[in-house]
Order: sequence, then structure tokens, then C-alpha cells
Amino acid sequence: MQLKVVKFGGSSLADAEHFRQVAKIIKEDPARRFVVPSAPGKRSKDDTKVTDMLYRCYEMIKAKEDIEEYFELICKRYNEIIADLGINFNIDGELTYVKNAMLHSSGRDFAASRGEYLNGLILAKYLGFDFIDAENVILFKENGTFDDEKTNEILSEELKKHEHAVIPGFYGVMPNGTIKTFSRGGSDITGSIVARAAGADLYENWTDVSGFMMADPRIVENPCAIDTITYRELRELSYMGATVLHEDAIFPVRIAGIPINIKNTNAPEDRGTMIVPCAKDYDSKKVITGIAGKRGFTAITIEKDMMNSEVGFGRKVLEVFEDNEVSFEHLPSGIDTMCVIVQTSVIEEKQEKILNSLTRAVKPDTINVDNGLALLAVVGRGMVKAKGTAARIVSAVSAADVNIRMIDQGSSELNVIIGVDEKELESALKAIYAEFVK
Ligand code: ADP
Ligand code: ASP
Ligand code: MG
Repeated sequence: MQLKVVKFGGSSLADAEHFRQVAKIIKEDPARRFVVPSAPGKRSKDDTKVTDMLYRCYEMIKAKEDIEEYFELICKRYNEIIADLGINFNIDGELTYVKNAMLHSSGRDFAASRGEYLNGLILAKYLGFDFIDAENVILFKENGTFDDEKTNEILSEELKKHEHAVIPGFYGVMPNGTIKTFSRGGSDITGSIVARAAGADLYENWTDVSGFMMADPRIVENPCAIDTITYRELRELSYMGATVLHEDAIFPVRIAGIPINIKNTNAPEDRGTMIVPCAKDYDSKKVITGIAGKRGFTAITIEKDMMNSEVGFGRKVLEVFEDNEVSFEHLPSGIDTMCVIVQTSVIEEKQEKILNSLTRAVKPDTINVDNGLALLAVVGRGMVKAKGTAARIVSAVSAADVNIRMIDQGSSELNVIIGVDEKELESALKAIYAEFVK
């Protein structure tokens, strides 16, 4: 029989009505045996996600403020769900334990993780499924990175013992027993890890949109949905700001070749987007698959005459970044210029030091630092065959009166990256969308 791992995002579990819808979806298909929930998300535009409330509690404790009243709001959210569902489950003991642990310095990650932990307990009870605490099966290494092999071993063994189970998303455990979370949106990663360990046929990721759109629906009105996308295309798009799926959620399922289906909890009959390992069976008629953009980059441009004949120049430049523990995003380069693009937040405090070290290391003619850069990724497996894609991008963006500060075509011909002023990100994205999706 088929086996599906299903992950439900915060908006899909924001209140009791959504819990009922989620249970209906799960019970409709016996293959949906393992469920990964997020913490309750926003019930309306102005609402606050439980995860954000927990982070706030943590900050309040740090600032020595009283959390009694604010923590009560979190308790209320869970208790409302339980009461509305009419299940016989008392979560008060758990809530008190969480509050006390937070007051006794259990850490920021512990605080945040309780959103999924508590929601997982309720969902397991409501579905009549077993509960597997992620702290026993999702393992991090001493250096804080995810321990994929050990986790896979332990989690697969554990899953074999359960016909049905709920495994809360977003967190795991460090070797010393403390709780650690993935970065924001990390329940997507847990879902992928569980899919791999279970040997699933499909990883269904249920959210509040009917699949991956060709552009962010908050920027482009009613964008077309993407029918099929490859892991690599998706990774490019999600890394560059298409937030539907966490950028690291690809890796576990990729190892096992398991496809992901992005589905809409509120419109389950919609096909959604299939994310597949390999493009060859999915010839794309479209030149581009999608566009995404992200703010917050800095370009450091180093100029030196005859740079190209100076053996080891690039290595010396990159060594400076390495010594300062800064990884680079792109390296668009000319004959006598080399440009290193990095995330502004990563470099901010180290900028002076890096510039001084660069001056010492390669004695450049000039170094320019350009903040406020946004990067846009135009991604598509159809680009390999289509001629003139970069030219079309450039002319569409220019026609929208946006100045292109950088352009970089990936050697795989899967993407073109352009850099524009942060303020012009939205105009550029709309212009490219209009050019390719008419
Ligand atoms: P969940 O809570 O289910 O994990 P997220 O908020 O993380 O959901 O992701 C879904 C949201 O991603 C959508 O509501 C939408 O606003 C946003 N989004 C950004 N880019 C895209 C895109 N290209 N296609 C679809 N949704 C997108
Ligand atoms: N609840 C966490 C967050 O808000 C993880 C997730 O939703 O995937 O980031
Ligand atoms: Mg998400």
C-alpha cells in the first residue's frame, strides 16, 4: 500500500475549524499515516502566530517583564481549539510546565518549539494517532547542524512501530539534551525528514495556497500556479524568497527521490504543485518556471588592472571572506573586476575588517561597497532551449525604468540572477512576469 507523509502549516491548523478540515483530509486517504503539524498560525491578517507569541514571551522574560498575562493568551489559543473540537484532553499541566521551564532559562529554541509540541499533542489526540516527540527522533550534532544519517536511522526504526503517528515539526534535540529548532518555517524540513525515514511514496505539504505560483502572490496579482517543478528549480526559487517551502526541505526527500506535492488545505481538490526529482520526464513548454526575489544583499566590487593575469587573485579574495566566516552568494566577475555578493546582515559588523584585509591581501585599485541590493532569480528548465532569455529579462526590466546593477547567468542555464535596487524589487518582478507570462 502507498504511504504518504503529510505536513500541515500554521494557517492549516490555526483554529478548530481548520483542525476538522485537516482530520477530514487525513482520514480520506489511508495512505496518510504520518502527520507533521506546525504551531497554530494566523487566524486573520492581523492575528499573531503562536510561534511569534512564544518568542515574545522569551524576550519578555529576558527583559525581566511579567509574562503571566501574555502567556495566558497562548493558553487560551490551545484551550479554545480543544474546547471547540470537543475532545477530552486537559492540556493545562503541559502549559504550566512550559511556562515554568521558560521562566527557568530553558532557552529561546525550547520556547519556540513548544508551539508545535503542544499542537502535536492536540492533533494526535483528535486523530487518535500515536504521538512521537521530535526530541527523541530528530537529532542535531554538537556544532548545531542537523544530523541526517543518525536521525534517519533512529526515526525509521521508530516509525516502524507505529501504524499512524503525529510528529511535531520545527525542532529536535542537541547531543546534550537541549531543544534546538530549525530556522523559521522549519516544519517543512521535519516533514521531509519523516518522508525519507518512512520511505514514503509522496510528501504532501498542505498550506494555504493551491501550489507554488510563478511569482509571489503578494506582489503579482493572481499569478499562474506551477504544475510541475524540479527540486533544483524549487531550491533556486525558495532560496530566493519564495517562502512556500523552506529552502532546506528539499534535501532529505532528494536523497530518497520522493516527490513533494504542495496542496491547499482549503481547496483539497486542487491539484497543487508537484515537485519532482528530475526534469527529463517533465518537458516544460514555458521558458521560465518561476521568479522570486529577496532584499538585503551587499555587493563588494574589487577592481585592479591586470587582475586576470594575477594567479591566485580570486583565492586570496575569497580567503578573506572565509577567514571572517562569511559565505558568498554570487561572484559575477569581469576581466579587471571581481564582485562578491553577500548577505548584508552577515557582513554588517565585519565590513571594516573585511575591507582592510582585502586591501592587504590583493592591493586593489579600488573597492566599492554597494548596499541595498535586491536579487531576483528567474528560474526555468525551459531556458536551456530558449534563446535570448537574458535579453528579454533585461529589456523588460529596463522598460519598467528599473536599473539593473548586476546580472549573472548560472552555468547550468537553469537561472538568471539580476540585482536591482531594493526599492525596485517589486517593479522588476512584475515586469519580468508580464514579459514571460502573457
Ligand atoms: P505554511 O504556514 O502553510 O507553512 P507559509 O506561509 O510558510 O505557509 O507559505 C505559504 C505562503 O507563501 C502563501 O500564503 C504565500 O503568501 C507565500 N508565497 C510566497 N511566494 C509564493 C509563491 N511563489 N507561490 C505561492 N505562495 C507564495
Ligand atoms: N512555527 C514555525 C514558524 O513559525 C515553524 C513552521 O511554521 O514551519 O516558523
Ligand atoms: Mg511555511
